[in-house]
Amino acid sequence: MNQLNLLWDYQTADIEVERISKEIKRSPNRQQLVKYRDSLLSLQKNLDRISEEVLTMQDRLEALSDAIKRTESQIQGIQEKLQTNEPENTEETERYIAEVKRLISNLNDYEGEIKRIRTDSVEREKMQRDVKMRAARTKKEFDKVKEVYDAEFKEMNERLNAAKEKADEAAKPLSQAYLDKYQAIKRHSFPPLAKMIGSQCTGCNMSLPSGIVKDVQSGKEVECETCGRLLIFSE
Ligand SMILES: [Zn+2]
Repeated sequence: MNQLNLLWDYQTADIEVERISKEIKRSPNRQQLVKYRDSLLSLQKNLDRISEEVLTMQDRLEALSDAIKRTESQIQGIQEKLQTNEPENTEETERYIAEVKRLISNLNDYEGEIKRIRTDSVEREKMQRDVKMRAARTKKEFDKVKEVYDAEFKEMNERLNAAKEKADEAAKPLSQAYLDKYQAIKRHSFPPLAKMIGSQCTGCNMSLPSGIVKDVQSGKEVECETCGRLLIFSE
């Protein structure tokens, strides 16, 4: 058998390898697993974001609680001052009153904000529970499909390995130059070898010039001008 015919046999084995690889990639179970994995990742991102928000809220609550303590002690300070030294005039009294009012208004603002944060954080906790529940459900589904897919993959992988072995075997009598050429054509056209039937390339169905037809018939190494496939003569 000449190199072209051997290459044809190799191609037959290689087509089978490609077919099984594609079958593995296109497996509905595999695609479902990818979907579940993506949604688990996005749920995890959601959880991270919520945790981040909860941390920010906790920091803010601490800062507010400090501010409240500070303000209360400022008010207490003013009260103590007033008890020890009576204000000298109305203006001073009014100044103290205004200051206390301002501090009380601040206290009210702080407390209002604390209330809002508490409400928000109850909401966040509910969100966290929901997301966790959804993640747990998705993980359960993922595991179920994974079990089926693992068995399926084991079987497909065995077939793939057997096909690869066959291809390796078929590659043995081929020269490296032919294999390289095959790989180079494979990058743009698959399968890389095409039979010439009559004067037609069966890779792209274009008619070939008579000079090329003769070359192919005589077993020369010729590529189709249109699709770049290596042509092999078939009677
Ligand atoms: Zn062609």
